[in-house]
Amino acid sequence: MTMAWLDPVRQEFRKRLQGDRLAHAFLLSGQAGTGKQAVAMEMAAALLCVEECLPACGSCRSCQLLATGAHPDYCNVSFELNKSGKLRGEIVIDQVRDLISLLQLTTTISAKKVALVYPAEAMNRHAANALLKTLEEPPGDAVIILLSHDPSRLAVTIRSRCQNLHVRPPDLDAALEWLLESGDYREAEARSALQAAAGSPCRALNLLSEGGVAHYRLVSDTLESVQAGRCPPAGALSALADVEPDQLWTWLSLSAAERFLQNRDNHSARISLSQLQNRADRNRMLMASPVRKDLLLQDWLIQWARLDGL
Ligand SMILES: [Zn+2]
Repeated sequence: MTMAWLDPVRQEFRKRLQGDRLAHAFLLSGQAGTGKQAVAMEMAAALLCVEECLPACGSCRSCQLLATGAHPDYCNVSFELNKSGKLRGEIVIDQVRDLISLLQLTTTISAKKVALVYPAEAMNRHAANALLKTLEEPPGDAVIILLSHDPSRLAVTIRSRCQNLHVRPPDLDAALEWLLESGDYREAEARSALQAAAGSPCRALNLLSEGGVAHYRLVSDTLESVQAGRCPPAGALSALADVEPDQLWTWLSLSAAERFLQNRDNHSARISLSQLQNRADRNRMLMASPVRKDLLLQDWLIQWARLDGL
């Protein structure tokens, strides 16, 4: 097993697995890009494995089937394509109904049935209500693992029925070391990726493997130019046109947060930066809806250009 920062979560889960306190539902929380999916898959494999141990044996029929993605006692609910082939921005009730049907069947291979829901806060109200009913009266051999970047967005009624496991990101040095072991990257590049990913190692690795670091630098350089008056907001709009919108708003939010921390004594700038950060977060959520994305970005950049005295 790698990703040493996940060890406390593994140990906690192992205790539950070995004792008689195994819950029917777990809530695995932590910021995006810290390895929640990886540890959730390890938990699922452990629950399904004939040995019922963590790490799973890796060689029994259950472990082999899980590795091929065809385990009959396991299901994974996440974003799916809708009828017109577009990725949905939420988890809908039909998906939760399918999950419930699977959990009601008798097991085929393993002693337990396991379902993963990721990210749990993406369930819409109907989907969450349907899941809540199952959490209230779970089938005896079912375990549901909810993954969440932001558990405060889940209903308290759902949270209170889960055993909580929280993933803490590694410190900067450990994250850097892991990144450098994971691929042939230069240290400066890996540092930039970690900065762009707000310290989330898996997200940083994605950026490195997808060439996202160059886009992150482009965003920071463009923001500097806008603020220094070297580039008008309209020019910045075209410079940023190729950056993936969700990623772009994450970085804009981070940039505002960084400046906020750097400007401890400039009260008016801090108010503006806090507003800019909130707007970036809200705009990121709006990307799935039919809004004029260029106008949102232009307005944001105009406000950024007005920041002075920084
Ligand atoms: Zn096994």
